[in-house]
Amino acid sequence: MSLNFHYRCIDCGREYQIEPGIMLCPDCEKTRKPDEPLKGVLEVVAEGKADGSITGRNTTGSIEDFVFQFLPVEKEYFPSIPVGNTPLWQPELLRRKTDFEKLFLKDDTLNPTGSFKDRASYLVAAFARKHGIGEVTVASTGNAASSMAGVGAASGLKVRIFIPATAPKAKMVQALQYGAEVNLVDGSYDIAFDMSIDYTKKHGGLNRNTAYNPMTIEGKKTVSLELYAQLGDVPEYMFVPTGDGVILSGVFKGFKDLLSLGIIDKMPTVYSVQAEGSSAICRALSTGSFGKPLPSKTIADSIAVDVPRGGYYALRSLKEFGGRCITVSDDEILAAQHELASNAGLFAEPASSAAYAGFLKASRSLPRDSKVVLLITGSGLKDIEAAMKGVKLP
Ligand SMILES: *Cc1c(COP(=O)(O)O)cnc(C)c1O
Repeated sequence: MSLNFHYRCIDCGREYQIEPGIMLCPDCEKTRKPDEPLKGVLEVVAEGKADGSITGRNTTGSIEDFVFQFLPVEKEYFPSIPVGNTPLWQPELLRRKTDFEKLFLKDDTLNPTGSFKDRASYLVAAFARKHGIGEVTVASTGNAASSMAGVGAASGLKVRIFIPATAPKAKMVQALQYGAEVNLVDGSYDIAFDMSIDYTKKHGGLNRNTAYNPMTIEGKKTVSLELYAQLGDVPEYMFVPTGDGVILSGVFKGFKDLLSLGIIDKMPTVYSVQAEGSSAICRALSTGSFGKPLPSKTIADSIAVDVPRGGYYALRSLKEFGGRCITVSDDEILAAQHELASNAGLFAEPASSAAYAGFLKASRSLPRDSKVVLLITGSGLKDIEAAMKGVKLP
């Protein structure tokens, strides 16, 4: 009872063996126009039989083992830092306040570096170790950098990051503390992205850029596998904060694996929540395509992107599985951040609070007794400056 894995290009369908020399489908990569999401993104396809039972459900060991069988790198290569298996809990007061008695919080702020990004870094680190690669490079708005730095430190990997000089200080300091080599970029994340790819093309090592490295989507899918194990089923609705669309893609991918392997028979309704000032994926869902990019502007730095790198996979998944998109304003995000912190005791960064803001907006049209999961992706301590805007200082 085990699965076999290979890559399949999401654009042309060509299949490839999983190996470090390939990140995007070489033919389709070239068809990308400037200012477009990445083309030729490779999806990991799992074939064979998986064990759908979660014996002793809710115990750490069994959930981990349940999840590991779906991953394309063997358990022995993963570092010992405890990533994932985050709490799914029932916020009593928030349930009362919102009148949703089956509201759940999936608290990924409790990952080792304080964000969901650890799920991708964990698989990337294991992949590097399996293939004897000692250095990982990544471009980031902040969290992917601090995450790769931390998980890399625990894995004995050298980590180099490219990060906009405007990134929140905490995220940069975290990366420095973990011992990463930090390159500040005088420009946007989009520029940092291209610089980091140039760097790995010239100097070698593994590039962890989101959507570009297939292990990023694949690592992020673990959240859906865990949710299935924790709930004993999939939720009816799920709210996912979205920038590049790779967390969203990962969420879909996890459920898709469960569907295609016959473990579940229904996909949850997944809401992608974007900031009004950075809503490329929502715009593409309503217009049918990614037009000219607009400069992003939102307080939620982790979901501020001009060109969503994982846009095509995200859009395709939204269309295929009846996903929905919703946008929220910065004021709604800040209000949601404070409400979440003061009613649930969960202090989340603005990007993550967008999930709650999106839920509040959509909740009018959802049945009150539905099982709803909010994906809380990053800790509020990562961006104190933004959080200060939502409270009155004494
Ligand atoms: C990266 C990130 C997101 C968005 O993920 P994408 O894959 O870019 O859509 C949301 N919240 C937090 C805290 C993040 O770090």
